Amino acid sequence: MQYKAITIGQTVRGQEILGYLNQDHAQSYIYLIAGVHGDEPEGVFVLEQLFSWLKTQNFSTSHIIIPVLNPDGLATNNRVNSNGVDLNRNWPTTDWAKEHNKERYFPGPKPLSEPENIALLKVFEKYKPKLIISFHSWQPMLDCNARAREIAEYIAQFNNYKVVNDIGYPTPGSLGTYAEKVLQCGILTYELPEVSETKSLKEIWQENEQGLKNYFLKMIT
Ligand SMILES: [Zn+2]
Repeated sequence: MQYKAITIGQTVRGQEILGYLNQDHAQSYIYLIAGVHGDEPEGVFVLEQLFSWLKTQNFSTSHIIIPVLNPDGLATNNRVNSNGVDLNRNWPTTDWAKEHNKERYFPGPKPLSEPENIALLKVFEKYKPKLIISFHSWQPMLDCNARAREIAEYIAQFNNYKVVNDIGYPTPGSLGTYAEKVLQCGILTYELPEVSETKSLKEIWQENEQGLKNYFLKMIT
């Protein structure tokens, strides 16, 4: 499959944020995003593997891949961007709150203050999302809204991760809330396990490979 590379914006430090799309004028798109949190290489790796495979396939389903939204954070192994902001607490939702009780969860001075999120919002406006899959890592689970429930349950058949509609603690200003309330599209926050002594990046990809590939294969029309 041929992808068109686009620069969706720049980070605080001026690094380019890249996106890849397989169609230019579709009605709506599936988004695959990783590296929102720079200290979660698991999602970046899994999306990299999936992207390599997608390039060998041919789908009519329109989609956009954003391999790393927060390259500044990834380069320094930091959850937050170069302004120290948690990009997944900075979306302009009605529950956005400037209070935060953990250092690495700073929501920013105001909603949508960060260039990485502004860039992503511009892409959402140009290429309407129907489903967003955002790869993170923590405890393995598929956190989805009702619109993304079917895909979460489908993938769970392969990786046996639990499907939840709430991560278990409040996440004001998250992309999950923004997608549900404002964009009104499907959102799957795909929590992978973290790399550990007993689990490598490769093994994390392997336990997700079949479910992700099959999900795309079953959509071929
Ligand atoms: Zn994360």
